[in-house]
Amino acid sequence: MNLRADAALRPTLVVENARSESGEAVDLVLSGEVIAALGPDAAKAAADVPRFAAEGRLLCAPFVDGHIHLDKTLIGLPFAPYIPGDTIAERIDAEKRIRRQVSGPTQARGGKLIEQIVTYGTLAVRSHVDIDTEIGLKGLEAVLSLKQSHGRLIDIQTVAFPQSGVMRDPGTADLMDAAISAGADLVGGIDPAGIDGDIEGQLGAIFAIAARHGVGLDIHLHDGGALGAFELRQIAGRALALGLGGKVAVSHAFCLGELDDADFGCTADTLAKADVAIMTNGPGPVPMPPVKRLMACGVRVFCGSDNIRDAWSPFGNGDMLERAGIVCDRQNFRSDADLAEAFALVTQAPAAILGRPRALEPGAPADFLLLPAGSVAEAVAARPSDRTVFRRGAMIACGGRSVGAGE
Ligand SMILES: [Zn+2]
Repeated sequence: MNLRADAALRPTLVVENARSESGEAVDLVLSGEVIAALGPDAAKAAADVPRFAAEGRLLCAPFVDGHIHLDKTLIGLPFAPYIPGDTIAERIDAEKRIRRQVSGPTQARGGKLIEQIVTYGTLAVRSHVDIDTEIGLKGLEAVLSLKQSHGRLIDIQTVAFPQSGVMRDPGTADLMDAAISAGADLVGGIDPAGIDGDIEGQLGAIFAIAARHGVGLDIHLHDGGALGAFELRQIAGRALALGLGGKVAVSHAFCLGELDDADFGCTADTLAKADVAIMTNGPGPVPMPPVKRLMACGVRVFCGSDNIRDAWSPFGNGDMLERAGIVCDRQNFRSDADLAEAFALVTQAPAAILGRPRALEPGAPADFLLLPAGSVAEAVAARPSDRTVFRRGAMIACGGRSVGAGE
């Protein structure tokens, strides 16, 4: 790595003797909330500036959770037993029953989850937020208020998510339109066939909202097999037709893990042509998208946590390094190159999908991590709990605990 610096930025803090992802000893010079210089011996040009000793720890970009539900989590409440349900529709009904009984504001639970995940090193999330005719925009208002109250810790992008369906819950499309007007960043969707039984109807409605507001989409798709693949191609076709290439993602897309070669090849090519990205969380006992095979076809893949301690799952903690390990297990990733790819799935890949500022370089926000690992592969394998987290130039967490501005 060559010394890179922005001479116009006055140094305020030097992070000395870190290790870059390529293994070089580097210094990082901060100027307030941004990076002023990065490279071997960068500290020499910043005499008389406070020092932080990185002691050879790995310097890397923060984690980005590409799929979370800040409005659903029950974190902070007494442990809620999982209510069994065989179908997505049954789970939706169970969640609504829980939602009616839950005590305390959504902001409090979502805030607790944010405070937890920043200690792991996650500094940006894409949060889907339920929009339906029962809750209206209340969940969105709560998450938008978290964006303000917790903005010093994390960047939040929101998706207006029709958990109960669009056609199945008449009035939802209008609410989603209102959600975008109220500040949601993207339009969501869910199983146009499996939930709504009307592929044309749901896709027509959600793409119309996106086109009207000039925003992207992120659609939950659990429908399996050839049906799911057909829906993926329909989504890609609409993205291409509306000029939304690069602004559309499909979350889960389990079907990609159970297609024959011909169907997979045709579907992956269609996704690549429209630059429709795929989010996976390395799901449990269901098929999952084959990560390397999709990337070889030119499809962007990124990771998220999905449900954390809510009506859909009693599990999860929001640790994206753990998530990378789960994906490695599911995809049989073992080599250093594979583990580095898994690391990118929780850092660079979701950062690009969320339109985050470029990587660690002069002029970029001083959001970064220091990990006790010799390489990103070791970080994925060892999953160290001792993480030092800097947000906008200030240390907010160390050793798994909030510090300073994050206290
Ligand atoms: Zn989800």
